[in-house]
Amino acid sequence: MFLTISTTGTPERPATDLGFLLHKHPDRAQAFSTSYGRAHVLYPEADPQRCTAALLLEVDPVALVRRGRGKNRGGAPDAALAQYVNDRPYAASSLLAVALSAVFSSALRGVCTARPERAAEPLPLRVEVPALPARGGPGLVRRLFEPLGWTVTAEPVPLDTEFPEWGDSRYVRLALESAELTLSAALRHLYVLLPVLDDAKHYWVAPDEVDKLLRAGEGWLPGHPEQKLITSRYLSRRWSLTRQANERLELVRLAETDDSEVEEIDNAVGEDTETEEKPTPLAVLRREAILTALTESGAARVLDLGCGQGQLVQELLRDVRFTEVVGMDVSVRALAIAARRLKLDRLGERQAARVRLLQGSLAYTDNRLKGYDAAVLSEVVEHLDLPRLPALEYAVFGHARPRTVVVTTPNVEYNVRWESLPAGHVRHGDHRFEWTRAEFRAWAGAVAERHGYDVEFRPVGPDDPEVGPPTQLALFVARTVKEAKAA
Ligand code: SAH
Repeated sequence: MFLTISTTGTPERPATDLGFLLHKHPDRAQAFSTSYGRAHVLYPEADPQRCTAALLLEVDPVALVRRGRGKNRGGAPDAALAQYVNDRPYAASSLLAVALSAVFSSALRGVCTARPERAAEPLPLRVEVPALPARGGPGLVRRLFEPLGWTVTAEPVPLDTEFPEWGDSRYVRLALESAELTLSAALRHLYVLLPVLDDAKHYWVAPDEVDKLLRAGEGWLPGHPEQKLITSRYLSRRWSLTRQANERLELVRLAETDDSEVEEIDNAVGEDTETEEKPTPLAVLRREAILTALTESGAARVLDLGCGQGQLVQELLRDVRFTEVVGMDVSVRALAIAARRLKLDRLGERQAARVRLLQGSLAYTDNRLKGYDAAVLSEVVEHLDLPRLPALEYAVFGHARPRTVVVTTPNVEYNVRWESLPAGHVRHGDHRFEWTRAEFRAWAGAVAERHGYDVEFRPVGPDDPEVGPPTQLALFVARTVKEAKAA
């Protein structure tokens, strides 16, 4: 059972960079143990013009059966096991998908420390899987991959070449080509779609499969024309999980159709104003409130932490008072979009000197973030798991220590005012929590106390008498600065 990934290159962008992107050196064949057998990575060709990496999985049918038995205590039907054993060693593409994610986990996430800029770039890719079990045949293979930007060749494999009258097997020979995709996107397509085509997941579907699916589907699954089939098959037709996945994907799709995470839902703001004009999106009001706070603080050098797709960075650059603007985000994909929005590759020297995008995580201290006048965390804290917040707190308020910090976050009390939001739902699929006004104040007050800042709170959007504003903003100012000013 195997899969190859090839790319072509130029002297400036050698094809052998594939080795960096996959975190696997082209000169060495490497083997990894997985729970189903051994996975090998080798490069049949590796020169600057052309480079091919092969992932080969030697399935251990005994391990499979043993594992199956263990899982079976949960109640999986026993009869299904027999079918796993016969063709698995040769063709099980869902096992290949598991091996893919185990062996190329960083590449899947788009992380490449040696060549970060290349990880975010599309590159010419060709993927081949010589024997892919495909329930639904070549037609379904095309319906799954073509909407994602692949040129698809899917030829049915005859059951037996000597007896063509027997017809085709359920296998296809698959070749995919594209020059529009990043390696991370390509791997995430395969990770989800190979098992979908196989349609016989070998392991018991756990509830966290929904999270895995949404993570791997980021940027392409929401709104895919076959989204329903993909979620249903990927989750082994477990109805409740499938419904949950589709609901979450729908929220993501709504949010992504606009250029900011919540603008779609935000458009409801100000609906009852007298004018007929389109109400101002909340994301715009939020950026205005942030700009006001930054201007008042007199900041010139500003960090936008969790800058996402760079809307605020762009706005800050339009104001000459901000002499240096740095956007940081953990998501390579978001940064790639931000770089395009800001036209970083076409900026004049003066503008280019004012702006920088960094990849990094707020869960770790980072010396690159030291010495700035102000930092903004706009709609970011709620994307971290609560237990990670102390790490973010220390990284920003303890280590980077800008004079001014502006934090915005949704006010969960306001959610009852969103007509399009089903009761009990957060506004965005990736929100780990949403706070009431009291919860936000308690957190911000304690942070300010621990790190020597004063904090004040401001509403963003219409301040509802009962439930407050849709967005809450906290403005932190370091105490030492205030004292120095007073003196
Ligand atoms: N600030 C933007 C984007 C908000 S969405 C705006 O107001 O529109 C939240 C962003 O936080 C995402 O881009 C996400 O990638 C980023 N993020 C989540 N966890 C992070 C972390 N640990 N470190 C840095 N960025 C993170």
